[in-house]
Amino acid sequence: MEKNIDWGALGFGYSKTDYRYVSNYKNGKWCSGEITTDDKVVISECACVLQYAQTCFEGLKAYRTKDNKVVCFRPDLNAKRMVESALRIEMPPFPEERFLDAVKQVVRANIDWVPPYRSGASLYIRPYMFGTNPVMGVKPADEYQFRIIVSPVGPYFKGGIKPITLRVPDFDRAAPLGTGHVKVGLNYAMSLHAIVDAHNQGYNENLYLDSKTRTKVEETGGANIIFVTKDNEVITPKSSTILSSITRRSLMYVAEHYLGLKATEREIHIEELKDFKESALCGTAAVLSPVGKIVDHGNEIIFPSGMENAGEITQKLYSTLTGIQKGEIEAPAGWIFEI
Ligand SMILES: *Cc1c(COP(=O)(O)O)cnc(C)c1O
Repeated sequence: MEKNIDWGALGFGYSKTDYRYVSNYKNGKWCSGEITTDDKVVISECACVLQYAQTCFEGLKAYRTKDNKVVCFRPDLNAKRMVESALRIEMPPFPEERFLDAVKQVVRANIDWVPPYRSGASLYIRPYMFGTNPVMGVKPADEYQFRIIVSPVGPYFKGGIKPITLRVPDFDRAAPLGTGHVKVGLNYAMSLHAIVDAHNQGYNENLYLDSKTRTKVEETGGANIIFVTKDNEVITPKSSTILSSITRRSLMYVAEHYLGLKATEREIHIEELKDFKESALCGTAAVLSPVGKIVDHGNEIIFPSGMENAGEITQKLYSTLTGIQKGEIEAPAGWIFEI
């Protein structure tokens, strides 16, 4: 039976649910894996994850559709990306087909926690893995845990569709040949100071530049960015140090194939921002969050769409993508994964 929760009041936080999925890696292989009620992880005090941050993660959501099916959005891409993240930090990848099976198992076990259709909430799914055995000299662990927890969540930004303000920080996110393109905890650890500082100064997020030339726009700490030009072209930064958002890839497809707009991935220089009409952040957590203003040191760029409402194209992109996710609009083949 559906849990007795005020779904509409949920924010983006962690609420413990009944079940989680766990598989351990030992003696060179992943064990079969199981659903458990045990929410405690017991590992060595010298575990590689605790000493050297050997951990990567994913994030996706389960939704209830119009016809009351429970579905996930393109989880095969999360499975694939987690393999890439794991390999970059010398972890044994969790097989893609097992990832999908684990997602299915853990959502089914927690089916009563999947928010109802039209509640505005969804079930956030967080797969992650980490090195568990003790290491002191710098080297990868030999033993790992892959785990999936889930939590019902509301919108990422409390203001909902209200535009947010970004600032260009005096910090870098990703080195040119570093780990910016993979979803690893270390990228987030080093963003924590910058985000706390941004909040203290009254900004919602940091908009990072490429760290080599500091002239090109990259992304925020946890979301990609899109812009709309004055002739309604949707553009997004092309860079090898950005985490390739599945939401962003899907939005670019929607712009082109559903809305008939030109959609381009290219380098975007900071000086170009003043010429754009709209901007929005995109990622699983926020889906699409309109950006009203970007502050680059003394220079304030306010998009014509303003600080009150999302721009017209942003709104269309948002309603089309969420319509596809909720089964109201026909999805491209392979986008919807039924639980
Ligand atoms: C997870 C993440 C995103 C968003 O990716 P989605 O696949 O759309 O959820 C964007 N940037 C960073 C740095 C991320 O970690």
